[in-house]
Amino acid sequence: MIEAPLTFYACHCTECQRQSGSAFGLSLLARERSVEATGTPSHWTRPTDSGARMDCHFCPHCGTRLWHKVSREGSEGAILSVKGGSLDIARLLAPAAHIWTGSKTAGTQIPAGALAYDRAPPGFDPLIEAFDRLYRIEQT
Ligand SMILES: [Zn+2]
Repeated sequence: MIEAPLTFYACHCTECQRQSGSAFGLSLLARERSVEATGTPSHWTRPTDSGARMDCHFCPHCGTRLWHKVSREGSEGAILSVKGGSLDIARLLAPAAHIWTGSKTAGTQIPAGALAYDRAPPGFDPLIEAFDRLYRIEQT
């Protein structure tokens, strides 16, 4: 079964700025079971603010960050945050939302009318719905 990604958004938090070495991070949320990797990525693990741990996968050859595992196995499986800049189709995707805009870098513009949050969104359902509206993905 091929499963569509859940959402795609830009995060302007300082952690994403540091990790990307740029103004913001791009994240494509997808169920782990729908992501297939060729080759063997390396990873490291860091604690999260909530006391959990996050597995951060990257290319062992060039160091490019590939994905983070952001949730553990649940009834619908684990969720990965695939780093948007590593996608072959990154230039074709517009973020469905912008989060942590309260810490965006000077000069970064949030598109007028975009779904945006000063800090973390209260949940990801609005981002998932915005992604569905933007790309009209039909699950098969
Ligand atoms: Zn972030």
